[in-house]
Amino acid sequence: MTKNIAILGATGSIGVQTLDVARMHGIRVSALTAHRNIRLLEQQAREFHPSLVAVADPTAARQLRIALADTDITVAEGEEGILQAAETPEADTVVNAIVGVAGLLPTLQAIRAGKNLALANKETLVAGGELVNAEIERCGVRLYPVDSEHSAVFQCLQGCPPGALKKVILTASGGSFFGKKREELQHVTVEQALTHPNWSMGAKITVDSATLMNKGLEVIEASRLFHVSDDEIDVLVHRESIIHSMIQLKDHSVIAQLGVPDMRIPIQYALTYPERMASPVRELDLSEIATLTFDRPDTETFTCLAVCRKALRSGGLYPAVANAANEAAVQLFLEGKIPFLKIGDLVSHAVETFRPASPSLTLEAILQADKETRASVLTKA
Ligand code: NDP
Ligand code: MG
Repeated sequence: MTKNIAILGATGSIGVQTLDVARMHGIRVSALTAHRNIRLLEQQAREFHPSLVAVADPTAARQLRIALADTDITVAEGEEGILQAAETPEADTVVNAIVGVAGLLPTLQAIRAGKNLALANKETLVAGGELVNAEIERCGVRLYPVDSEHSAVFQCLQGCPPGALKKVILTASGGSFFGKKREELQHVTVEQALTHPNWSMGAKITVDSATLMNKGLEVIEASRLFHVSDDEIDVLVHRESIIHSMIQLKDHSVIAQLGVPDMRIPIQYALTYPERMASPVRELDLSEIATLTFDRPDTETFTCLAVCRKALRSGGLYPAVANAANEAAVQLFLEGKIPFLKIGDLVSHAVETFRPASPSLTLEAILQADKETRASVLTKA
């Protein structure tokens, strides 16, 4: 089990819940990072006494350096600072809870420094998939999924013999707009999109849940983690978010992982694996819930899921392009510059029109495709 962690994205939804788990189990925290929320980062640093904190925004970093001048905590800044946190010598595991493809380089840095990864940052696997897997193999480290569906699949797979898996069944809450059709989604607001029925999460992933892009990203993530193809991954809408995902085995036995919707279970399992320990999460009372429901996803209204599947089948840089287009489009939507339905349109357009300059999946090619796709989407506002 993990004894010492570095948390990248400590001030976000996953970061804060990771600190809850660390507090409960006495896991040492040797580095913490944020983009610019230095108020919270300072509080966290004073409670957990890491040797290093890093802030991506250089101006905010300088302010935090002054605020922490009475401590012996080093304050690093910029992208370099985040990379330094990803290779903190004392940490055996790096929790990557950064949002977006900004998490890719820190993931690679952590792997190359020989750290195990507790990975919430799904965009790392979507954009960098095969490259990240190759580096994990080369460096002999382990990746533990934090995303609840993938943690569920990982938990279900414990004790399954190799070759027994037939299908991964990812459950989806359906997000804020489940059951609505395109006409009804034309004028939905940012506030409505940010109202998730079951989970309290960062803004970007909450919008991704509303568009079903989140499930599309998760299909790609599952394919990278469990070495399954698009047609071996089913998506099932399950509004209650009690079954976090399932696997179907060769004999058609289905194994599911259940629990109340609380990210601290998958976060904790990623840190305590293979142990099972008491958790701060309440017990699941199925008699209180009484009914669990299941639906097919509406892929005509929520187009992002099918686009991600297409990007997965196309392989190479296509998943990185789908991800980049979505990150830029969600940013525009959150800034009130485009309507909700335009997010899906922009992601589809980016994937449909992308022509890779070279077939090789290098880091440079991924970052270039990411940059060009974002720039192209941002001009569409
Ligand atoms: P939040 O937006 O709540 O937090 C993001 C964190 O990353 C913050 O600490 C933020 O700092 C930091 N950050 C943002 N941009 C950058 C950047 N460019 N460079 C460095 N740090 C940055 O996100 P969530 O916690 O919701 O999600 C984090 C990741 O986990 C995402 O990939 C998401 O898809 C995944 N995930 C989240 C779940 C959830 O329940 N929230 C569930 C499953 C997966 P600051 O606070 O200063 O802005
Ligand atoms: Mg998830």
